[in-house]
Amino acid sequence: HEKDQDQTEFLQAVDEFFSTIEPFLTEHDVYQKSNLLQLITLPERVIQFRVPWQDDKGNWQVNRGYRIQFNSALGPYKGGLRFHPSVNLSILKFLAFEQIFKNSLTDLPIGGGKGGADFDPKGKSDNEIMRFCQSFMTELAKHVGPDTDVPAGDIGVGGREIGYLFGQYKRLKQYDAGVLTGKPLEFWGSKGRTEATGYGVVYYVKHLLEDKKDSLKDKTVIVSGSGNVAIYAIEKLIELGAKAVTASDSSGYVYDPDGIDLALLKDVKEVRRERLTAYAKERQNAQYFDGDSVWNSEIKADVALPCATQNEIDIKQAQLMAENGIKVVAEGANMPCTMEAAEYFIEQNIFYCLGKAANAGGVAVSALEMAQNSQRQQWSKEDVDQQLDDIMLNIYENCRDTAARYGQKDNLMMGANIAGFAKVAKAMLAQGLV
Ligand code: NDP
Repeated sequence: HEKDQDQTEFLQAVDEFFSTIEPFLTEHDVYQKSNLLQLITLPERVIQFRVPWQDDKGNWQVNRGYRIQFNSALGPYKGGLRFHPSVNLSILKFLAFEQIFKNSLTDLPIGGGKGGADFDPKGKSDNEIMRFCQSFMTELAKHVGPDTDVPAGDIGVGGREIGYLFGQYKRLKQYDAGVLTGKPLEFWGSKGRTEATGYGVVYYVKHLLEDKKDSLKDKTVIVSGSGNVAIYAIEKLIELGAKAVTASDSSGYVYDPDGIDLALLKDVKEVRRERLTAYAKERQNAQYFDGDSVWNSEIKADVALPCATQNEIDIKQAQLMAENGIKVVAEGANMPCTMEAAEYFIEQNIFYCLGKAANAGGVAVSALEMAQNSQRQQWSKEDVDQQLDDIMLNIYENCRDTAARYGQKDNLMMGANIAGFAKVAKAMLAQGLV
């Protein structure tokens, strides 16, 4: 759409998507004829609002809040909230667009949405976070509900923020446990939700490797990020006998040749809410690389899990990763590889596991949280984890089989995009394109 030309991240996501689903569109010309492609790239609804809040000194601050309700063909809008200073319409539209197809791949009844604010949680006190969340929800509550739109967390939004958002929703409306997911366990969160995205991405790689008669055991893994996704990816890697040797944040990265010490990482990031420099200081043999990206390193490894943010890996870094021996790239983050980097991995026969598929475990367990809330039940951690593992296997096989069906064996990117699209497109057509 002409009016979206300045939305670079959104255009990138749309271009990447359409460039890979062509074989499907050629086979099903009904979608081109019905103008579905034009339709599917326009959100059903975009909500923008101001978020005024008071800091600890009593000064009024203001941020921009958003909710993108992109597509409800498969169910209520579902997708996280991101609080980060870089947030704008383009970034949230790219995330919401990808969410449609990711949610479709889970085979659970959820549509696609995303939201957030250009608020920077870094350095804010607990009270400031609370006041911000309360103000944000004061507007958002008008547009969400357990059967219409169900937000969750994303960058800068974890259990603490979801708790404050939930409390405010309840004051304004009523007790609807299912209006948000990623809730703390005491008020109807799902066991295993915190771990789900990180565990899920590792399960996806596990199933891929098993399919190739290999395993994660003794593999060396480069991980970027040190937030929710990265921490639980590292936890599952360790459990499966692999060695994660790095973690990063926006200031630099840590290389720990002995393998990341998970207890220390959790203490620094989740309990003390400090930076990775603290980890490096307290851990023998760990080195901190200030201001650098882990993707510029020369560390030899087998698997790469980008779990920080969009466009963290460009073509030069992709080439370096191939030189360093990387055989599998699985995206914990959304769109962490540029289009050129992604195409390069596929050309080099490096298994490239697209975020829409590989990181779908988080939203899948969010949908399980909705199911538990509707039932007024809380399932056991083992039960949720087994369902997550099964869902990731199902997604992997769907990507693999779809790619093979369109003549591109092992092109898991094409497989993910076509499989995700096919279901949404069919539903839209059956519903009269609404
Ligand atoms: P967190 O806020 O918990 O952690 C984000 C991590 O990435 C932090 O280490 C942060 O470092 C780093 N990071 C964020 N922005 C940048 C940046 N611009 N440059 C470098 N590093 C950055 O978020 P999550 O772990 O939840 O999310 C990480 C990624 O995973 C995102 O792309 C998100 O969309 C995706 N994702 C998350 C899901 C979930 O369930 N949480 C589900 C599916 C995908 P710093 O502290 O310095 O900012």
